Amino acid sequence: MSIKNYIDKVLKSTIQSTPGQTEFYQAVEEVLTSLEPLLQAEPKYNNYNILERIVIPERQILFRVVWLDDQGKIQTNIGYRVQFNSAIGPYKGGLRFHPSVNLGIIKFLGFEQIFKNSLTGLAIGGAKGGSNFDPKGKSEGEVMRFCQSFMVELSKHIGETRDIPAGDIGVGGREIGYMYGEYKRLTGRFEGVLTGKGLNWGGSLARTEATGYGSVYFAENILNKAGDSLKGKVCTVSGSGNVALYTIQKLYDMGATPVTCSDSKGMIYDKDGINFNSLKSIKEIGRKDLIEYIKVHPNAAYIPLHQYPEGTNAVWSVPCFAAFPSATQNELCLADIKNLYNNGCRLVNEGANMPSTPDAVDFMLANKMFYGPAKAANAGGVATSQLEMSQNASMQKWSFAEVDDKLQGIMKNIFELSYKTSKEFGDEGNLMLGANIAGFRKVADSMIDQGAV
Ligand code: GLU
Repeated sequence: MSIKNYIDKVLKSTIQSTPGQTEFYQAVEEVLTSLEPLLQAEPKYNNYNILERIVIPERQILFRVVWLDDQGKIQTNIGYRVQFNSAIGPYKGGLRFHPSVNLGIIKFLGFEQIFKNSLTGLAIGGAKGGSNFDPKGKSEGEVMRFCQSFMVELSKHIGETRDIPAGDIGVGGREIGYMYGEYKRLTGRFEGVLTGKGLNWGGSLARTEATGYGSVYFAENILNKAGDSLKGKVCTVSGSGNVALYTIQKLYDMGATPVTCSDSKGMIYDKDGINFNSLKSIKEIGRKDLIEYIKVHPNAAYIPLHQYPEGTNAVWSVPCFAAFPSATQNELCLADIKNLYNNGCRLVNEGANMPSTPDAVDFMLANKMFYGPAKAANAGGVATSQLEMSQNASMQKWSFAEVDDKLQGIMKNIFELSYKTSKEFGDEGNLMLGANIAGFRKVADSMIDQGAV
């Protein structure tokens, strides 16, 4: 059977055996397709059935989460933890609380996490979890009761050398705190079982900033290789959560001007540059809607998202040199990338997980745009989570500069490994190809070493 047919066969059987998981198929198809040149060169992956194995999680846990709302009424949500691959280390990956969460979404995120974690060069396997619970509009008490109930089940499956969850969309320091407290109450153990913890109780300096900072470091590496930099460049950013916020802050440090951000209701275009402190106090501290921004900065424009044709994202209609999708999956489609490109954009760097649709990625590659794929570009968050685990295990606390230094080194290594691998497989500079192959190779070789498991 030709390699193409082999890949096709695995894709088809994945779709047949796990119906209705669109985002998961999208993630699998991208990875498997880019493995073609590796599989041509190395028959061992086929001989050891690696593709068939790697698309099936080692374990997936689905559970009922019941909690009492402020009216004393019983509410019900679904909880998930997909422990995808532990070939290179204990399961590691975030928890997402968002109404759009279903098993297919968690599986796509878990699958991506395997290769992202491998690229960091650290010993962490891939996992993801979450719930269709929406923290938005809930009281502190409701969020706490939900988190505690979620942890009652999750605690049976995690541990500092077993599975170490963290945050993702809808899960920040507050939720990690409530879950950590409950874990401790249930098990009696004060251990580094979650990352993204508060600084007083085991958290690492620079973890909050790490995904956004890392994303910008990655983009800078791409541009430096081409003899350019972010300095003086106008950039667009989508989202206004943890990743977007610290992307914006680091862009200023690099001498660039981030002019946009967005939430689920609308976007801000501030041509003087988004004010970091205002954004932080509205979104991170205040948990308010982005429209508040124009009260403090009346010269900025607020554009409700529904004013734009369905499927496109208003953020990508703003001219820029570099775009940083940092909100969520499939937020940058073919029409968006054409808009960006025609307006002079040359770099797309993915802070969110799988934010670009496959046809948008094809367009970037066909037009030789610079492209920082999510697995590589946003790996700084999970890498710094591993630095938090190291500090917990050795009972140390490193300075901000020490962690940030390590983060910069890791992002540079990921870039160089992805670049070198793209060259090895005949498409120099195609970082999607390089990242997928390099991330896969380490995991697959480890699976071979460990036998039929
Ligand atoms: N949710 C983040 C990611 O997508 C971070 C995971 C972690 O720190 O474990 O990589």
